[in-house]
Amino acid sequence: MFNIEKIRADFPALKQLINGQPLVYLDSAATTQKPLSVISATEHFYARNNANVHRGRHTLSEQATHAYEQARQTVANYFNIDANELVWTKGATEAINLVANGLTEQLDNDSTIIISALEHHANIVPWQQLAKRTGAKLLALPLQKNGSFDVQACVEFISQHKPSVLAITHASNALGNITDLDPILHAAKRHDAITLVDGAQAALHLQPNLPQLGCDFYVFSAHKMLGPTGLGGLYGRYDRLNSLAVYQTGGEMIETVTLAKTIFRQAPAKFEAGTPNIAAVIAFAAAIDYLTSLNKTNVYTHEQVIFNYAAEKLQAIAGITVYSNIENNIGTLCFNYKDEHPFDIATLLDGYGIAVRSGHHCAQPLMQHLGINGSVRASFAFYNNHSDVDLFIAALQNCLELLD
Ligand code: PLP
Repeated sequence: MFNIEKIRADFPALKQLINGQPLVYLDSAATTQKPLSVISATEHFYARNNANVHRGRHTLSEQATHAYEQARQTVANYFNIDANELVWTKGATEAINLVANGLTEQLDNDSTIIISALEHHANIVPWQQLAKRTGAKLLALPLQKNGSFDVQACVEFISQHKPSVLAITHASNALGNITDLDPILHAAKRHDAITLVDGAQAALHLQPNLPQLGCDFYVFSAHKMLGPTGLGGLYGRYDRLNSLAVYQTGGEMIETVTLAKTIFRQAPAKFEAGTPNIAAVIAFAAAIDYLTSLNKTNVYTHEQVIFNYAAEKLQAIAGITVYSNIENNIGTLCFNYKDEHPFDIATLLDGYGIAVRSGHHCAQPLMQHLGINGSVRASFAFYNNHSDVDLFIAALQNCLELLD
């Protein structure tokens, strides 16, 4: 049984009043709220286990190292990967930068990189920079007018351009649309392209089985998966991962150093220079434990019920344009009201305790493609309930009356 009230009680931030109103948190695509177990894992680490990891011989350091490496295994299990294929980064952004930088020596001016206009800037700019460094061509997959992929057109585009690298999102951060990855990744693999999937939005909702998905790299952010900020991860199929050039250099990532020469360790260590974010890694494992303690099917079903309830109510309001594809979505509603500025709507909603996001959502090429400057985005997670939707819609109707 999926007991939503019991789940909501695990998230202390959801219990507060904002501007005198109960908080309705609809900004989980930006960052999720944290369950108590994550908050207390952080506190427990600093209160009881705080020590630097690796190399220490004292008990506290050994305990911290054990918890830290155990956490890598916990997160690896979530994605059904080997712990050696998981590199800690400070977020999805850094993970993409790590790959794009690490590929510099593998590309040249005969190479082609394919991305899409649907991407978050984090999955655009590092590839632009890589193209600049190597002389590679950067192309974007064809996108339909409404922001959805025509998969067949994408497959043909890939076959025509035979990319060396394909980087694509698993779910759009602005629209929530889920990408039909299988045919696209298959087409890329037929040309031996290196494939990276941006899972920043999807990893929480879809729990991808990464070997089954078949991409070479997959990136995610802990803070969008109930975990702490300042931490993310990079999955890399081991041979591909190990073939990347080192990103940052320094302590921890070395085998031996002389003043003349340094030998690097193998992945994942060679990509983890310096003292890691130990507390965040351990707290993230608590987040994953929390998530996997819930029944995956029930969580997904609940998310979809709430999302569809919200979508139906939102679409029924005259003057609202919804840009998201409701049929295949992780739970994000991207919309505008007539030609009202999305900032005004978000600001007015805040007065009712409703937290939504407004603007370009770090997806300016998508906004340009849709012919808008920005939008309002209400993003849902499994801790939202029917009452959140009712309060959101009632507040929105009041706001729109004020704007009319
Ligand atoms: N990719 C997508 C799809 C995102 O939604 C985000 C963040 O919103 C990122 C990448 C970047 O994540 P972070 O800022 O945690 O590095």
